[in-house]
Amino acid sequence: MSAQILDGKALSQLRRVALAERVSKLLAKGTTPRLDVIVASQDPASIAYASMKRRWAEAAGMKGESYEVGPETSHNELLELVFRLNANTNIHGILLQHPLPPQLDELDALLHLGAEKDVDGITPQSLGRLVANMPGFRCATPLGIIHMLEHYGIDPTGKRAVVIGRSVIVGKPMALLLLQKNATVTIAHSKTENLAELCRTADILVAAVGRPELVKGDWIKPGAVVIDAGYNKVEGRKFDVGDVEFESASQVASWITPVPGGVGPMTVVTLLENTVDAAEKKA
Ligand code: NAP
Repeated sequence: MSAQILDGKALSQLRRVALAERVSKLLAKGTTPRLDVIVASQDPASIAYASMKRRWAEAAGMKGESYEVGPETSHNELLELVFRLNANTNIHGILLQHPLPPQLDELDALLHLGAEKDVDGITPQSLGRLVANMPGFRCATPLGIIHMLEHYGIDPTGKRAVVIGRSVIVGKPMALLLLQKNATVTIAHSKTENLAELCRTADILVAAVGRPELVKGDWIKPGAVVIDAGYNKVEGRKFDVGDVEFESASQVASWITPVPGGVGPMTVVTLLENTVDAAEKKA
């Protein structure tokens, strides 16, 4: 392996220490930062991620509740829950953990989520603010990736970036944040032709696809920075598998994120940081 590791696990630990210090200042002023999560009851992976977020929040001195929604939950019930959380002044952040059960209209629920509590930055209002370069919450996964690049001294200015994936929660905001950092950005998706060839032009390659090990070592420009946002359950593999084939990619890249231990922990700490930002603003 020649690539250096972008160690999201270690960096998230550092940031959690700083986070706990900010939380203790808020506690001294009588404010307990609180992040509440709405999660699908029949999705074990989502429940596991939500409980990890709660554990990390509690370890930092924060609070949080989870609300499970299932096949029996109506859209009106979901909206009532969102309104109730919006109105509760003790709650600083609300996360709708994607994916929700199919009968629930996630986009409509996001339209009703108070922008001042949208700590994952995925409501249309927050995304509009991102497009307009206005202050507001930025999506936790892409912002965590930007923090990682900053920490390791990787400046996207003038670099050619390719983001594979155009989802609202990862691909599109990632591309916009890289653009704000002065990269020249291309977004690829399932209809992109000659994907491997396009990837070989990237100085910074971000994979947010949801296809285990889609990106091979020979798709990567020598010396490129490779960010793997993917985590995929694969039968017979103990740990989640990324969208990049780590073994071959790490022979070619200059920097690479591992899975697990790369983007995942940065996402969680960034979500908590956004929640503390919200609580500080209110305090
Ligand atoms: P998503 O909504 O399913 O979007 C996947 C994107 O990949 C879509 O834009 C899709 O294109 C594109 N795509 C699918 N197959 C492709 C292919 N063969 N070639 C090129 N593009 C292809 O997924 P997501 O929510 O963005 O998540 C992406 C990955 O990141 C998943 O593995 C997810 O688990 C992971 N994730 C990680 C974190 C974290 O904290 N680490 C957070 C969120 C998500 P179309 O638009 O054309 O369909």
